[in-house]
This record gives sequence, C-alpha cells and structure tokens, in this order.
Amino acid sequence: MNTAANIEDPSRSSDLAFSSDENRWQTVVDRDPRADGAFFFAVRTTGVFCRPSCASRRENVEFFDDTDAAAAGYRPCKRCQPTSLPRELAIVERVCKVLDADPQQRMTLAQLGEAVHVSPFHLQQLFSRIVGVSPRQYQAAQRAGVPMRSNVAAT
Ligand SMILES: [Zn+2]
Repeated sequence: MNTAANIEDPSRSSDLAFSSDENRWQTVVDRDPRADGAFFFAVRTTGVFCRPSCASRRENVEFFDDTDAAAAGYRPCKRCQPTSLPRELAIVERVCKVLDADPQQRMTLAQLGEAVHVSPFHLQQLFSRIVGVSPRQYQAAQRAGVPMRSNVAAT
C-alpha cells in the first residue's frame, strides 16, 4: 500500500505550481482543473487555445497567463471555451463572499488565495480582470461604503 504519495492534496496549488513552463506542461498533461484560469495553453498547429483541463490535443503548445492568447492570434477552443470564464467567475464570487462577510477585516492576497485555493498572484490578476479593481481596492471601497458587488453580478 504505497499510494500515499499519489493522493492529491488540494492545498498544494501555490505560486510555484504554474510558474514554469515545465510545471504548466505537467499540469496540462494531467488536465488539472485547478489550473483553469491560472493560465491557458495554445496549440500552434491548430491555432486554438484552451483551458488546462480541456480534453483537446496538447502538442506544440505555448502558454499564456491570460486570454492574451487571443491577442496573439489564437482562437478560443469551442470545447472548453477559455474566454467564457465560468470557473474564474466562481472563484471571484467566492472571494467576494469572503470579503463581504467581514468588511472590516483586512485580508491579504495570501489569505484570500488560501481561502479559494488560488495563488495570490493569480488571484490578484483574476480579481482585477473580472471585478475591475484589486482585492485591496475592493476592500477599501467596502470600508468606505461603496458597493462593488454589482460588477460581478452583472457579468
Ligand atoms: Zn479546449
């Protein structure tokens, strides 16, 4: 019974997890859904870009941190719809929920990332992209009594 090493630890996703192309490639090979939104891979031969968990072919790939893949001329995959952001939205919703729960409490990016199992760096990017402000700005606005929730709900 030597299976302990194979058990996935959901808290393992960290800053380092997707920081190098080697890690990203491994993640893509594993089709790890936790990487969805953290980066995208584009297939040079087909001109399509995908979420890491997509079932489509993965060879001759290039990695993108964001949907910049579209700017680079790649088309979003029809299967995994990398530009539709359902999972990213869900993550941001969870972050908002955490922040809304106690507006007076100052949460660091690290704490928030921990709460939703996303790296602080990625969380910052994601949150800013979807909500339009950083988590810090969001919290500041909350404390100032400016509701920002509507941005997310309207998406
Ligand atoms: Zn795809």
